[in-house]
Amino acid sequence: ATRPYDDQNIFAKILRGEIPSTRIYEDEWAYAFPDINPQAPLHILVIPKGAYVSWDDFSAAAPAEEIAGFIRAVGHVAREHGLVEPGYRLLANIGGHGGQEVPHLHVHLFGGQLLGPMIV
Ligand code: 5GP
Repeated sequence: ATRPYDDQNIFAKILRGEIPSTRIYEDEWAYAFPDINPQAPLHILVIPKGAYVSWDDFSAAAPAEEIAGFIRAVGHVAREHGLVEPGYRLLANIGGHGGQEVPHLHVHLFGGQLLGPMIV
Protein backbone atom coordinates (compact mmCIF):
# COMPACT_ATOMS: atom_id res chain seq x y z
CA ALA A 1 0.00 0.00 0.00
CA THR A 2 1.07 3.57 -0.55
CA ARG A 3 2.55 5.12 2.58
CA PRO A 4 0.71 8.04 4.21
CA TYR A 5 1.15 11.49 2.74
CA ASP A 6 3.83 13.59 4.45
CA ASP A 7 2.78 17.24 4.28
CA GLN A 8 6.37 18.30 5.02
CA ASN A 9 7.62 16.96 1.66
CA ILE A 10 9.39 19.48 -0.54
CA PHE A 11 6.65 19.75 -3.16
CA ALA A 12 4.01 20.33 -0.47
CA LYS A 13 6.20 23.22 0.71
CA ILE A 14 6.46 24.49 -2.87
CA LEU A 15 2.65 24.36 -3.21
CA ARG A 16 2.28 26.34 0.02
CA GLY A 17 4.89 28.86 -1.14
CA GLU A 18 7.26 27.97 1.72
CA ILE A 19 9.97 27.04 -0.78
CA PRO A 20 10.35 29.25 -3.85
CA SER A 21 9.71 27.98 -7.36
CA THR A 22 9.09 29.55 -10.74
CA ARG A 23 5.45 29.16 -11.73
CA ILE A 24 5.17 27.82 -15.28
CA TYR A 25 1.47 26.98 -15.10
CA GLU A 26 -1.20 26.81 -12.45
CA ASP A 27 -4.88 26.02 -12.37
CA GLU A 28 -7.42 24.57 -9.95
CA TRP A 29 -5.86 21.10 -10.17
CA ALA A 30 -2.20 21.42 -10.99
CA TYR A 31 1.00 23.41 -10.58
CA ALA A 32 4.00 23.27 -12.93
CA PHE A 33 7.54 24.50 -12.29
CA PRO A 34 11.04 23.83 -13.65
CA ASP A 35 13.03 20.94 -12.23
CA ILE A 36 15.93 22.31 -10.18
CA ASN A 37 18.31 19.79 -11.80
CA PRO A 38 17.20 19.66 -15.44
CA GLN A 39 17.93 16.50 -17.43
CA ALA A 40 16.87 18.03 -20.79
CA PRO A 41 16.72 21.58 -22.24
CA LEU A 42 13.12 21.67 -21.01
CA HIS A 43 12.43 19.73 -17.81
CA ILE A 44 9.19 20.66 -16.11
CA LEU A 45 7.52 19.05 -13.10
CA VAL A 46 3.72 18.99 -13.03
CA ILE A 47 2.11 18.16 -9.70
CA PRO A 48 -1.50 17.84 -8.56
CA LYS A 49 -2.60 20.31 -5.90
CA GLY A 50 -4.14 17.46 -3.92
CA ALA A 51 -2.18 15.45 -1.37
CA TYR A 52 -1.12 12.31 -3.27
CA VAL A 53 2.09 10.37 -2.68
CA SER A 54 2.32 8.88 -6.15
CA TRP A 55 0.48 7.63 -9.20
CA ASP A 56 -0.70 4.75 -7.03
CA ASP A 57 -2.91 6.57 -4.52
CA PHE A 58 -3.83 9.20 -7.12
CA SER A 59 -5.14 6.63 -9.60
CA ALA A 60 -6.90 4.65 -6.87
CA ALA A 61 -8.40 7.41 -4.75
CA ALA A 62 -8.59 10.76 -6.52
CA PRO A 63 -12.00 11.93 -7.76
CA ALA A 64 -12.36 11.54 -11.53
CA GLU A 65 -12.61 15.31 -11.96
CA GLU A 66 -9.26 15.76 -10.23
CA ILE A 67 -7.59 13.08 -12.35
CA ALA A 68 -8.97 14.65 -15.52
CA GLY A 69 -7.93 18.13 -14.41
CA PHE A 70 -4.38 17.01 -13.69
CA ILE A 71 -3.95 15.08 -16.93
CA ARG A 72 -5.37 17.98 -18.93
CA ALA A 73 -2.93 20.34 -17.21
CA VAL A 74 0.05 18.18 -18.25
CA GLY A 75 -1.13 18.25 -21.88
CA HIS A 76 -1.76 21.98 -21.68
CA VAL A 77 1.78 22.69 -20.47
CA ALA A 78 3.23 20.64 -23.33
CA ARG A 79 1.11 22.44 -25.93
CA GLU A 80 1.88 25.83 -24.40
CA HIS A 81 5.59 25.12 -24.87
CA GLY A 82 5.20 24.07 -28.51
CA LEU A 83 6.22 20.51 -27.76
CA VAL A 84 3.54 18.57 -29.59
CA GLU A 85 5.02 18.77 -33.10
CA PRO A 86 8.65 18.07 -32.12
CA GLY A 87 7.52 15.61 -29.46
CA TYR A 88 8.30 15.19 -25.79
CA ARG A 89 8.43 12.63 -23.00
CA LEU A 90 6.45 12.14 -19.80
CA LEU A 91 7.76 10.15 -16.85
CA ALA A 92 6.49 9.34 -13.38
CA ASN A 93 8.64 7.53 -10.83
CA ILE A 94 6.69 5.50 -8.28
CA GLY A 95 8.16 4.21 -5.03
CA GLY A 96 11.52 2.65 -4.30
CA HIS A 97 12.15 0.64 -7.44
CA GLY A 98 10.85 3.59 -9.45
CA GLY A 99 13.49 5.85 -7.92
CA GLN A 100 10.93 8.30 -6.57
CA GLU A 101 12.67 10.86 -4.34
CA VAL A 102 9.87 13.29 -3.50
CA PRO A 103 6.70 11.70 -2.04
CA HIS A 104 4.20 13.99 -3.78
CA LEU A 105 3.01 12.78 -7.19
CA HIS A 106 4.85 14.50 -10.03
CA VAL A 107 5.06 14.00 -13.75
CA HIS A 108 8.36 14.91 -15.40
CA LEU A 109 7.96 16.57 -18.80
CA PHE A 110 11.13 16.46 -20.93
CA GLY A 111 11.57 18.24 -24.24
CA GLY A 112 13.65 20.59 -26.34
CA GLN A 113 15.93 17.99 -27.88
CA LEU A 114 15.85 14.55 -29.44
CA LEU A 115 15.61 12.36 -26.36
CA GLY A 116 17.61 9.15 -26.27
CA PRO A 117 16.05 5.73 -26.18
CA MET A 118 14.52 4.72 -22.87
CA ILE A 119 17.09 2.86 -20.79
CA VAL A 120 14.37 1.14 -18.79
P1 5GP B 1 11.80 11.92 -8.49
O1 5GP B 1 13.08 11.18 -8.47
O2 5GP B 1 11.12 11.97 -7.16
O3 5GP B 1 10.88 11.47 -9.61
O4 5GP B 1 12.18 13.40 -8.92
C1 5GP B 1 12.25 14.47 -8.04
C2 5GP B 1 12.71 15.64 -8.86
O5 5GP B 1 12.52 16.82 -8.10
C3 5GP B 1 14.20 15.61 -9.23
O6 5GP B 1 14.32 15.66 -10.65
C4 5GP B 1 14.79 16.84 -8.55
O7 5GP B 1 15.75 17.50 -9.36
C5 5GP B 1 13.57 17.72 -8.33
N1 5GP B 1 13.64 18.56 -7.15
C6 5GP B 1 14.01 18.18 -5.90
N2 5GP B 1 13.93 19.21 -5.04
C7 5GP B 1 13.51 20.27 -5.78
C8 5GP B 1 13.24 21.64 -5.44
O8 5GP B 1 13.38 22.08 -4.30
N3 5GP B 1 12.82 22.44 -6.45
C9 5GP B 1 12.65 21.98 -7.73
N4 5GP B 1 12.24 22.86 -8.65
N5 5GP B 1 12.89 20.70 -8.08
C10 5GP B 1 13.32 19.86 -7.11
